[in-house]
Amino acid sequence: MSRSLDVARALFRDIPLYVPDTRKGIRLDVSDNTNLFGSPPAAGAAVRGAPSELLARYPIPYGVDLKTALARHLGVAPECVTTGCGSDDLLDCAIRAFGEPGDVLAHALPTFSMIPIFAQLNGLQPRGVRLQPDWDVNMEGLLASEPKLLYLCSPNNPTGTLVSRPALERLLAQAPGVVLLDEAYAEFSGISDLARAPTHGRLLVTRTFSKAFGLAGLRIGYAVGSPQLIREVEKSRGPYTLSALAERAALAALAGDLPWVEAQVQEARHARERLAAALKDQGLPPVPSAANFVLVPLPGAPEVARRMREEAGIVVRAFAELPGVGDALRIGVGPWPLMEEVLASLKRARS
Ligand code: PMP
Repeated sequence: MSRSLDVARALFRDIPLYVPDTRKGIRLDVSDNTNLFGSPPAAGAAVRGAPSELLARYPIPYGVDLKTALARHLGVAPECVTTGCGSDDLLDCAIRAFGEPGDVLAHALPTFSMIPIFAQLNGLQPRGVRLQPDWDVNMEGLLASEPKLLYLCSPNNPTGTLVSRPALERLLAQAPGVVLLDEAYAEFSGISDLARAPTHGRLLVTRTFSKAFGLAGLRIGYAVGSPQLIREVEKSRGPYTLSALAERAALAALAGDLPWVEAQVQEARHARERLAAALKDQGLPPVPSAANFVLVPLPGAPEVARRMREEAGIVVRAFAELPGVGDALRIGVGPWPLMEEVLASLKRARS
């Protein structure tokens, strides 16, 4: 009899694989906060027109062309910017760059679900601290664990709420190590601390082309910080993480798609407020959101989501017993006719 060989690293053993919903029978997926208005035209044309040589050769090391274009777009120096295969990748790289195995990474609860997983994969100890009843982060609680890394997400996924100005200022002043500020949804809130990252010294801000820019399939993220921080993230990232095609699309988007992005952001904000009001009318007031999704506390949410999927092919994200919230649905915001379909299906699924 052969003995089974456990080849996994000890710290990987309890980490689950991400299990996405099967695509079969899905008519409308509002579960992942991507851009429900689609993708921008100039980026699409750039992908379709990619020359053969671009595909045959390696990308430019460290994505220098996109780094330069982003620096111009953001009004910072190129050495203060790096790019990656989605902001997922940059967060993982940053945790690896600044955290020693055994160090504590503090984060709010609930927050972006990949963060404790990235912490564990890199040998760090994730410490979740519940959001306050007013949805702000608990400053004392976050600082109490003397975290080597502090992760903040504003607007926060899955609540859509912002880290308040006083909390952010105090955490930036008092956190003992690097502060990772995830601004994946900042275009929808219009609030950003990116401009101060190059000179702060311990602040790394991450952003993405997956949400407002509508390019989630191409996996493009970027980070802004001091040149010293960016150098360390780049060691962790390696030279070729951003594909040549992704870089080409992102360059085209910055050059030609900004009006498209701005228009969709405005429409998403408008639809978000309409959706919140309509949910309130159904007796389901959502958490006040500054992002392109809303979180709706609803006992039995997983069962309601299952019914919506079954009866209408509509996929919303369901959470069971979210800390401080309870069961809840997260609904991505997009064109109003789609929101009307979601609202109607939700109503039927609850009746
Ligand atoms: N941060 C937050 C808060 C997110 O919600 C997501 C995606 N859901 C990401 C980062 C990662 O996005 P991407 O890797 O597509 O840039």
